[in-house]
Amino acid sequence: MVKGVVVDAVNAVLANLCREFRELNSGHLATYIPPLARADPADFGIALASASGHRYQAGEADRLFTIQSVSKPFVLALALSELGAAEVFRRVGSEPSGEPFNAISLDPETGRPANPMINAGAIATTALVPAKGVEQRFSRILETLSGFAGRALDVDEEVYRAEAATGDRNIALAHLMRAAGSLTGDPSGALDVYFRQCAIRVHAVDLAVMAATLANGGVNPVTGARVVPEPVTVQVLAVMATCGMYDGSGDWLLRVGLPAKSGVSGGLVAVSPGRSGMGCYSPLLDTAGNPVRAVAALTVMSQELGLHLMHNPPPATPTLIEPGPGEGPGGAAWSRAGGDTAPGDPPAWVAAQGELDFTAAERLAYALAERLPEAGHGRAVIDLVHVTAVDAAAETLIRAVLERVTARGHVVGLVGEAAVPFSTQGVLLASRSAAAAWSRPPS
Ligand code: GLN
Repeated sequence: MVKGVVVDAVNAVLANLCREFRELNSGHLATYIPPLARADPADFGIALASASGHRYQAGEADRLFTIQSVSKPFVLALALSELGAAEVFRRVGSEPSGEPFNAISLDPETGRPANPMINAGAIATTALVPAKGVEQRFSRILETLSGFAGRALDVDEEVYRAEAATGDRNIALAHLMRAAGSLTGDPSGALDVYFRQCAIRVHAVDLAVMAATLANGGVNPVTGARVVPEPVTVQVLAVMATCGMYDGSGDWLLRVGLPAKSGVSGGLVAVSPGRSGMGCYSPLLDTAGNPVRAVAALTVMSQELGLHLMHNPPPATPTLIEPGPGEGPGGAAWSRAGGDTAPGDPPAWVAAQGELDFTAAERLAYALAERLPEAGHGRAVIDLVHVTAVDAAAETLIRAVLERVTARGHVVGLVGEAAVPFSTQGVLLASRSAAAAWSRPPS
């Protein structure tokens, strides 16, 4: 198992983005919650978690900060799981407001807030979470967000107290909603839970795993635990796509094309459904309240990895295939996961089919890494006979992985038309039977 080579290769992709956009110094720190003004404006962390549960990171991706508005889609997911879409969207709208996060976007007739991603809608959504009281409501929220992150999260008490003491605008919003009939119950209880939810501490890797859980239909791909039902993730992602970036939502969907949510402390999640979740931390914000470096880096990442939702999706065929009878390394089991190789062992053999994009290439790379011994030198075959296309992102990743694998002394044989671009990183073999003969240890 040389898993490290894949982690290293994908981390390098993220590190490049980090390096490219770290110099971007426009924007400002949020100061209306006093402790947020102490953030280091130079910080920039970026993380990616694949729907298959692997995590990658670069920059200050371990730096803890308060989640703020990035909590909103996850609390919406909890409310939807408990009450269903009909009840939740009867109380909170699902239309982009085109207004800033703290706007008084309430329907003039019903007092219903425009959507759950702006403050008014989020306070109302938090108040909908069924519970016996304020304490239980908050513990259910903390437990759900921890389930999304795959670890026990906690609260930054200082930030919570500071916002509770200075959040006049949110306090006013909650009272306006009670007057309009869209917030039932005690506004101070709803606000207390909302302020605590905003002060939950996370880092960019947590955000990537939380996003990947949405990408993976509600099952946390790292822990394997189901956090919310699959239909809820579809509803949450739809609301994120139209409302997640406040009055920057349309431009974001145009340029990046992914459901996302930003927060005033510099956090950002973006979701590539079925593929991966991204988490960023960059505390300098643009005028719409979105983190400047994160927006710039994800714009490029979405282009480079081909993640825009409005692309025609590739056919949903499995990437990895097992060779049929008479194919592959012959006779013996076609591969061994992990462990050391012994004389007479079959070589590591991985085969793929269809179109390879970044996600498919990551899967292929992992399958290869799992089959190569950590110690000693192994021989491996990558069988691309049934691969019809390799896009630029997949080519870059496969090349980076092959470079690292060969640097460790492993030798990789490559079969198929699609393997030709990798001829300098491995041994091109004319056919599967040639590959089988090449890979068999001399007896
Ligand atoms: N707690 C913050 C507020 O209500 C969250 C806003 C945000 O992250 N955009 O003002």
